Amino acid sequence: MVNLRSAREIALMRRSGLVVWGAHQVAGSLARPGVTTGEIDAAVEAFFLSHGALPLFKGVPGKVPFPACCCISVNDEVVHGIPGSRVLVAGDVVSIDTGCSLGGWCGDSAVTHAVGEVEPRVQQLLDCTRGVLGLAIELMATRNRWSDVATEMAKYVRDHGFSVVEHFVGHGIGRTMHEDPQVPNFCTPAFRRNHDFELEPGLVIAVEPMVNMGSKKVRVLADHWTQATIDGLASAHFEHTVAITDGGPVVLTAPPAAGESVGAKA
Ligand code: MG
Ligand code: MG
Repeated sequence: MVNLRSAREIALMRRSGLVVWGAHQVAGSLARPGVTTGEIDAAVEAFFLSHGALPLFKGVPGKVPFPACCCISVNDEVVHGIPGSRVLVAGDVVSIDTGCSLGGWCGDSAVTHAVGEVEPRVQQLLDCTRGVLGLAIELMATRNRWSDVATEMAKYVRDHGFSVVEHFVGHGIGRTMHEDPQVPNFCTPAFRRNHDFELEPGLVIAVEPMVNMGSKKVRVLADHWTQATIDGLASAHFEHTVAITDGGPVVLTAPPAAGESVGAKA
């Protein structure tokens, strides 16, 4: 069942989204050669705690509970990488995914950064993944059903010569991080028939395309969490929490607009 949110609830989710955006500024400033992924995670945790926000990723159940505030996935790692002693080097791409709960409402966002200069084709992968997220948000203004957005997303990625990861999808978000509906970045006849949903005011979803340079297939590493490409080629991930309002889609994890600030009351 999809929960629709009132304008007031969406305003509260925006507060949470702003803190997630702020955490990404801290993380992004550290995504440079010589920094460990564990240092980035620690800085994000400190940022959340200093803003009275609850990190959402720590303790997520799995074979072992997820141990950190961020998923940090480097190069061929797609999602769910565990931060630690790995040192970033120039030419890496690092995907940072994090979320928090503030006042009982959740926000979730991911960004992939180039560390120093990366190969041109890798930069194109990042640009394509950021681009397909932007395209999806734009289409949410005019399309009535998610299947139409997802179809266009998959085509955009295909046209760039990359592949959409199908093993993981976006999700509804609200009081908890993962709610209905499931939000795939591709469309199948079965999805259109059985799982499609309307893009109506009050819908709040985390849209999160994961795009691989080569095969769409992923495998899980020995740590039980990290998902990597099966061919060792690079992957990218961008995510925003997006609400549909009467005025159209609003990105709740976007930078502060005029009059907004991170940590301010709604
Ligand atoms: Mg996320
Ligand atoms: Mg998510």
